[in-house]
Amino acid sequence: MTWSRLLRDPLGYIWVAFNTRGVRLLFYALLVAILFPSSRYILMATAVLTLAVVWFQEYRKTGSAKIFYLVTAIFLIKIGYFISYYDVKSVEELRINKRPWGAAISQVQDGKYIGEGQGYRGPVKVEVEVKKNRIISIRTIEYSDLISVLDNQVDAFKREILGKGMLERPSQPEMYRGATDTLTGYVNAIESALAKGIPDFPQYSLFSRIYFNTFIGQAPDRVTLNTLAILFAAFMVFEYALQSMLTPGTGRSINCYNCASCVGVCPVKEVEGVQMPMGLVLLTRLGDYDRVMELSKYCVGCGRCACKCPIGNSGPMVISAAYQAARKKKLQQSLGAGKETA
Ligand code: SF4
Ligand code: SF4
Repeated sequence: MTWSRLLRDPLGYIWVAFNTRGVRLLFYALLVAILFPSSRYILMATAVLTLAVVWFQEYRKTGSAKIFYLVTAIFLIKIGYFISYYDVKSVEELRINKRPWGAAISQVQDGKYIGEGQGYRGPVKVEVEVKKNRIISIRTIEYSDLISVLDNQVDAFKREILGKGMLERPSQPEMYRGATDTLTGYVNAIESALAKGIPDFPQYSLFSRIYFNTFIGQAPDRVTLNTLAILFAAFMVFEYALQSMLTPGTGRSINCYNCASCVGVCPVKEVEGVQMPMGLVLLTRLGDYDRVMELSKYCVGCGRCACKCPIGNSGPMVISAAYQAARKKKLQQSLGAGKETA
């Protein structure tokens, strides 16, 4: 698989790459990160943790230096965090005297501004119109919390703001009862909208904005967490149920419930840390055919596992599938190399 092949046959290249679970998972994670900014932090932490485990094992086995690149990347990200943290802290201090609360509305120029806050279940987005030093309208653009809270507490608070023409804490503190996060998000959304109308409102540096947007995103909200869970379930269904139909004739098309019934009856049980024959099934599914061939010499071919497996797997069957898949892979590689040199 080379760059020249990618240029010559991009679709074929992508199709072959997609046959690797890691590539599919990477594509899926990128898609989720683009669609759900608040999931970036979780995805990044998961990716770093996974790479750390995999590359640490590689380092122990082969002395590969990849783990040190990862440590360096984490170190640089951490330095970036401290730079952004102190930038945000100093800007927040400067903003204290500029916040558009109460009579400070006079700093806000006439116009319509959109602002965003974080409610109980997700983002709250509003459009605020200011005219002659007064807030004259507030329109809710995005809202994910309870409709009853929007119709009661939020609506009452909105009428209060419009009555005064400026942003002030609700006159009745009990208004917040049961709706604290929603009203806080609503207030923050209005405040961030008004801040956009102040010409010299202190802003975070470009570096901090890019850093937080890339590495942190927003705090994960409930909607994102629920969506991630659903998408993860869909991914697992694809990987473990549909894939066997979509990729017939490969090691990945073999299913396994990991019930370990086969391990219970196998006279070998475990070799070199691999449970027999369940571990062979897993290695074949992951495409590590060389390791399966290496371990195949330990299977005595008694066939006991075949009688126990609810799917019909057995050590000899999986070993044979791995040999066939390895041969097919080598044939494809040699054909690819032949085409490239032709
Ligand atoms: S056939 Fe091989 S893997 Fe299956 S029980 Fe016998 S020794 Fe174990
Ligand atoms: S008995 Fe079959 S399904 Fe259960 S772990 Fe072994 S190979 Fe997998």
